[in-house]
Amino acid sequence: MADVEEIRTPIPFQGREALLIIAHDISDHKRTETILQDLSRRDGLTGLANRRHFDESLEREWKRALREKDQLSIIMCDIDFFKKFNDFYGHQSGDDCLRAVARVLERVLHRPLDVAARYGGEEFVVVLPGTDREGALAVAESIRSGIEALAIPHASSSAAPVVTISLGVAFLIPTPDGTAAEMLSAADQALYRAKEEGRNRVST
Ligand code: GH3
Ligand code: MG
Ligand code: MG
Repeated sequence: MADVEEIRTPIPFQGREALLIIAHDISDHKRTETILQDLSRRDGLTGLANRRHFDESLEREWKRALREKDQLSIIMCDIDFFKKFNDFYGHQSGDDCLRAVARVLERVLHRPLDVAARYGGEEFVVVLPGTDREGALAVAESIRSGIEALAIPHASSSAAPVVTISLGVAFLIPTPDGTAAEMLSAADQALYRAKEEGRNRVST
């Protein structure tokens, strides 16, 4: 069915009042609008959700979990020694690496409400609604091992001979006094610990 926009104007016609209806097909316009809306929610390099889209999803899932007293988990991920990777292999290889990491995230997450996003340069974040500690740790480990298994050479990394990622996991059942931002910050602190403890690992 085509999307149709109508303009209706009363006009005098042969001595009486008639109604002039101008209808035009706006299907193309609607399609373009949908595509643009989708693009504005995606990261241009990897095609994952962008940070704005992620912030909206997290806020929505936080509220839902609070209402339903449900579990919520997030995973913050950051590629190890990625500056050195760019310096050694070049920016183009760096971009290819970011795309490969994004594909692993997409492969590991299968639940319809899970959202993986590119949060910043070489940082990714995942929100897992209805997922408890064990579930989130299992997903985080799948991401970690999946990226190691890509076996992308990284000669200047002190963590491994290949590209690796560090992950911080936060999980909770939201309470009215907490916020989504606090939860994100907890995941970020866990990520910091994973870096401190030697990288290429999951921390909580
Ligand atoms: P750490 O293990 O502590 O995370 O070290 P790091 O080098 O990964 O962290 P740092 O934050 O020092 O450097 C991040 C680097 O990521 C900086 C930049 O070279 C690279 N980077 C960020 N965004 C992009 C991008 O869009 N494309 C490419 N190719 N590189 C990027
Ligand atoms: Mg970083
Ligand atoms: Mg990094």
